[in-house]
Amino acid sequence: MNKAVFLDKDGTLINNIPFNIDFRFVKFYPDVLYCLRVFQEQDYKLFLVTNQSGIALGRFREKDFFKYRKNFLIHLEKNGIYLTDFVYCPHHPDGAIARYSRQCKCRKPHSGMIDDLIKTYKINRETSWMIGDILDDAEAGIRANLNTIMVDNGTENEWYVNDLRRPEFIVNNFVEATKVIVDVEMQKLTDELDIITTERFNN
Ligand SMILES: [Mg+2]
Ligand SMILES: [Zn+2]
Repeated sequence: MNKAVFLDKDGTLINNIPFNIDFRFVKFYPDVLYCLRVFQEQDYKLFLVTNQSGIALGRFREKDFFKYRKNFLIHLEKNGIYLTDFVYCPHHPDGAIARYSRQCKCRKPHSGMIDDLIKTYKINRETSWMIGDILDDAEAGIRANLNTIMVDNGTENEWYVNDLRRPEFIVNNFVEATKVIVDVEMQKLTDELDIITTERFNN
């Protein structure tokens, strides 16, 4: 079983420009690329999980989004980062384009995209994480039984909270989110070693 980090894109990895699919305007937040390499070195699979309602709303075409996604992946690869998958939800309940206009199970806060990836790539939920900038991301992660971190970049403006919308950790930036994951994993290893030494020396 693999461990993974599921990543929101806009407002989490990059600056939040609503409905932007021009890669020239994409700016990664400071040290995000470095942090993604840290996850890779720690053997986490990386998944990008993004709502792209702009497709349903007729703000851009799905094929324009494919081009953007390709440029995005090329940029990451140039920086030594290899996503295992990059999935998106093109739907919206009140879309302008009929074939994308519907309630779906993939649009966050639903966990459909994450659940599918977990199944496809045999991911262990217990050791995996969701990182996003709004409570909808946290809810999707919680629904998928992942550990959840919210990077509070100021993009959440409703703060509608209930039991499914309480991220385990709220941090100020992506570097802090990375530190949480590394710390938690290190603590688990330390605890295991403690148990081993206690057993050995008590027998
Ligand atoms: Mg976001
Ligand atoms: Zn969808």
